[in-house]
Amino acid sequence: MFDYLQSALDQRQANGLMRQRRLLDSPQAEHITANGAAYLSFCSNDYLGLANDPKLVLALQQAATEAGVGSGASNLITGHHRFHDALERSLAAFVGKPAALLFSTGYMANIGVISALMGREDAVFSDKLNHACLNDGAFLSRAKHHRFAHNDINALDQLLAASTARHKLIAADAVFSMDGDIAPLAAYLDLCERYDAYLYVDDAHGFGVLGPQGQGTLQHLGLDSPRLIMMGTLGKAAGVAGAFVAAEQVVIDYLIQHANSYIYTTPAPPPLSAALLAAVDEIKHGEARRQRLFAHIHLLKTSLKLQRWQLAASDTAIQPLIVGDPHEALALSQYLQQHGVLVPAIRPPTVPVNTSRLRISLSAAHQTQDVHTLIRLLHSAEQSLPRHVNAA
Ligand SMILES: *Cc1c(COP(=O)(O)O)cnc(C)c1O
Repeated sequence: MFDYLQSALDQRQANGLMRQRRLLDSPQAEHITANGAAYLSFCSNDYLGLANDPKLVLALQQAATEAGVGSGASNLITGHHRFHDALERSLAAFVGKPAALLFSTGYMANIGVISALMGREDAVFSDKLNHACLNDGAFLSRAKHHRFAHNDINALDQLLAASTARHKLIAADAVFSMDGDIAPLAAYLDLCERYDAYLYVDDAHGFGVLGPQGQGTLQHLGLDSPRLIMMGTLGKAAGVAGAFVAAEQVVIDYLIQHANSYIYTTPAPPPLSAALLAAVDEIKHGEARRQRLFAHIHLLKTSLKLQRWQLAASDTAIQPLIVGDPHEALALSQYLQQHGVLVPAIRPPTVPVNTSRLRISLSAAHQTQDVHTLIRLLHSAEQSLPRHVNAA
């Protein structure tokens, strides 16, 4: 087996697809120290700059003094702390749903919810570009899994029309994690009404950023329905860790009984929930942060004038610069790194073949001059980087 593993790794290296971890030696922020060097970073999903916010840090420290650091037992034994409960109530009220349930990560929320709600007689309908954990959830559920072309309402309509499944669940990223575009959720909700289906919305990249007070993509689009199940992550704009699912009370009650990734695990430490209560407050009153973020997005989109690489159509904090060839994407990322700027190169299998890209993510923590630095470097890279022609 080890020979097999090594040759698979060698193959990945030869294809320009090997991934490397950097050692971060500073808080997650716009200016970081990684592998011993200082960088300006456009890598993190800390869209509001909360990951190192003093109010959150203080809330966590005080809660640790009061509640300790460990949860000690699963939620259904003695691990459900009043900080967890307070956060669930606060999140449900904030997004306007009857109830919410905390999970330790977004990954666990997606696999737990989909596999609990769906079974062998049911069907899940997924956008082809959905996050990997939505697909894993569908797989675990043993339901029939239909994948439709990105944002293709007609294809989804036809699949739903042809389905004889008992229960039908449409699953989609609200803001696509590698593309930054927004799913046509209003049209999906219409299809739910027509075909008696339900809509599971993964708002990892909209919660905190979009909508009134940063409530999320559904509120940004003015959508509300009992058929909606919303998932928001708490390790991105909220700056800490974890995720929540908000839905009708009966859905949450059912998940508490049946979502394995909720039941058979130790919940995140109570102080994290205390820090997240502070984060929800910062998000609610975070209009200035959001304005700064959207000013950066506007600046990048209007000032970047490249011939060779183009930004994908996105109005969110995720601004992908499509390069195509994985070697060239890596070379561009390395060029920026040599000049003190980190932007990750995203390659297959995370994105489709021939769409390797730089995933630029902007944050309210950036200064205007940081965005100018990035723009200037991308222009100079276009002049000085050799082209790769062996498209892979
Ligand atoms: C990051 C992400 C997740 C996973 O959330 P974690 O809390 O990091 O596990 C799920 N869905 C999407 C779309 C994401 O971008």
